[in-house]
Amino acid sequence: MTAPDVPAIPVRLARRPVIGGLVVPWITARTPDGRYRFGNVDYHRQLEALRDRLCQTCGGPLDPARIVFAMRDSDLRAFISHEPGMHPVCAAYSASGCPMLAGRISHYRATPLAAQLADLGV
Ligand SMILES: [Zn+2]
Repeated sequence: MTAPDVPAIPVRLARRPVIGGLVVPWITARTPDGRYRFGNVDYHRQLEALRDRLCQTCGGPLDPARIVFAMRDSDLRAFISHEPGMHPVCAAYSASGCPMLAGRISHYRATPLAAQLADLGV
């Protein structure tokens, strides 16, 4: 097994937490003990980002003229995005750093949240 590529962190994301060389997106959910759950979205931050037009990666305000959406083919057909937008630089970083967007994995962890929390004794 080879180590995944770790892209350089853009200045815009320099203040975000980093795990394994990768920036933790602003919208990433956390467990009750504070650990990040990559691939899982914090519901309240998702709503905040959609309502206030914030970038899901850095949490900063978006420029309405330059928003990038990561969309599935089915979302494109319906012209709907269930995920908040991103700054172009944050989207470029996510596309190269996120194992799912970069195509290095095809699915997120299959363990249900309840089982993960039970493992933590929560
Ligand atoms: Zn951003």
